[in-house]
Amino acid sequence: MTEIRVSASRDYSVLIGSGLLKNAGEYIKDFCKNNVAAVITDDVVDGLYYESLERSLNEKGITAVKFVMKNGEGSKNAENFIAILNFLAENRLTRSDLVIALGGGVVGDIAGFAAATYLRGTGFVQIPTTLLAMVDSSVGGKTAIDLEMGKNLAGAFYQPSLVLCDYDALNTLPEKIFADGCAEVIKYAVLKDRGLFDYLMETGTEFDREKVIAECVAIKRDIVGEDEFEKGSRRLLNLGHTLGHAVELCSEYSVSHGSAVAVGMAEIARRSAVNGLCSEECAKEVCGVIERFLLPVDTDINGEELYGAMLSDKKRSGEKISLVIPREVGRCEVRSFDVEKMKEFFGF
Ligand code: MG
Repeated sequence: MTEIRVSASRDYSVLIGSGLLKNAGEYIKDFCKNNVAAVITDDVVDGLYYESLERSLNEKGITAVKFVMKNGEGSKNAENFIAILNFLAENRLTRSDLVIALGGGVVGDIAGFAAATYLRGTGFVQIPTTLLAMVDSSVGGKTAIDLEMGKNLAGAFYQPSLVLCDYDALNTLPEKIFADGCAEVIKYAVLKDRGLFDYLMETGTEFDREKVIAECVAIKRDIVGEDEFEKGSRRLLNLGHTLGHAVELCSEYSVSHGSAVAVGMAEIARRSAVNGLCSEECAKEVCGVIERFLLPVDTDINGEELYGAMLSDKKRSGEKISLVIPREVGRCEVRSFDVEKMKEFFGF
C-alpha cells in the first residue's frame, strides 16, 4: 500500500492499494466519531461493492445507510443533490457522522457537495471506484453538480478526510471507462513527468496500477498544495480541458470526458507547435502516447462550433481565456489569451 499525504485546508491521506475496500472500516473508523455513515453510490457500484463495504463498516461498529442514484453524468443534478440532503436529514446525520462517496467522479462530486453543505459541513470520505476518480476527481476537494447551462456550475472546495483507492475495483471497470481515466493519467505525465510519460509509452494500458495512481496523485497533491482554490498554478490541471469541454458540449456529451480531453491535449500540442511554442517532436510525442492508449486525437466537430462552446467555458474571465500550453513533455505553462487571439491560435 502507498500512502500520500495531502496538505490543504484540511490535511488527509490518500491510501492506494489492493483489498482496501473490504477492510475499509479499519481505515474509516477514526473519522467516524458517532459510528454512523451515509454511503452515497450508484446502481452499478451498489451491486458490486456496497455489501462488502457495509460488512467491513459493521465489523468496526459503524452503522451504514445508503442512497443509490442512477449511474451516469445525468445524475449529477440539483434534484439528486436535494434528495441526498433530505436523505441525510431524514437519517438524522450530525456533523460528527460521515458521508462516504462510493463510486466514480459523478458520485464523488455530488456526495462531496452534499457533505460540504449539509449542516454547513460534515465528515467526508471518498472511495473512488474508477481510474478517473482515483487519479483526479477524488483528490483536491473540488465538488459540484451540473446545472442546465453546463457542467460543474455549482459546487464548493471541500477536502475529504480520507481517500481510499482500491485498485482491485478497476478489474470490474468497462474498458471504455478505464480508457477514460487513462486520458487524465497521460495529462499528468505531459504536465510534470517525463519519466512517467516514457513508462506509459512503454506499457500502454498494462501499467503498474499502484505505481501510476500514486505518481498521479502525488503530482495532483503538489499542485493543489500550491494553489488549492485555483487562482494560478492549479489551472495547469486543465491541460486539454478547455477544448475538451467544448468537444463534450458540442457532441451533447456523446463523447466521454476522457476522449474529449485526449482530443483537447492532441490539438493544443499540435497548435502549440504550429505557433512556435513547442517543438514538432513534442506534439508528435503527445499525440503518440494518446494513440498508444487507443484514445482519439481528432474530432470532426467544426472549428466555429468549438470556438463558440469555448467562449462559454467557466474558466474564462472577461475577454481572456487561459490555455495550458505544453512547452515540452513534462513542462507546461498557463497562458492567458485574448479570445480573438485564441481563435487565431487554433486556426478556427
Ligand atoms: Mg478532467
